[in-house]
Amino acid sequence: MRVNADDLSLKKTIREQLPLALLTTLGGLIAGLLASIYREALDPFLQNILPAINNKTLLLLCLLLFLLSAILATWVCVLVFGDEKNRLIRKNKRSERGFWINKKSGDKICSVCLLTRGIESPLRIKQITPAPGSFKAPQMKWQCANKDCAEHYSALPEEIEKVGYGI
Ligand SMILES: [Zn+2]
Repeated sequence: MRVNADDLSLKKTIREQLPLALLTTLGGLIAGLLASIYREALDPFLQNILPAINNKTLLLLCLLLFLLSAILATWVCVLVFGDEKNRLIRKNKRSERGFWINKKSGDKICSVCLLTRGIESPLRIKQITPAPGSFKAPQMKWQCANKDCAEHYSALPEEIEKVGYGI
């Protein structure tokens, strides 16, 4: 049997358009069904159920709805603005030596403060004196500027030289 080219292209067009037509029909049917349910249910609700609910219950329902919207609004605010720690983490990048580095300014940031307290605490080169009784020599290290933390990280000789503490 021979099929000419026009027949083939027609079949192809039908195949392409059929899902769209089916989807539109289905959508229309569902919308019509919902509209009729709505029309059927709304009248009895307005005539019988709404007058049966007393004002106090309506007020309580409104209050409940208001509280629900307030909770939802707070939740949205927390999602949008409460992500401060993650925003700070994205602003910095982790260095192999433990601390973090600000992507823009290149400042060294304390890892402990960033990850546990959610703050950007800068590091300064300081002399770390070992505990009394220890035989270690004092060392120059990067120390967190936050007094509550005071975490320190190793410093390279050229970094110590750069800030004027050349060995
Ligand atoms: Zn710190």
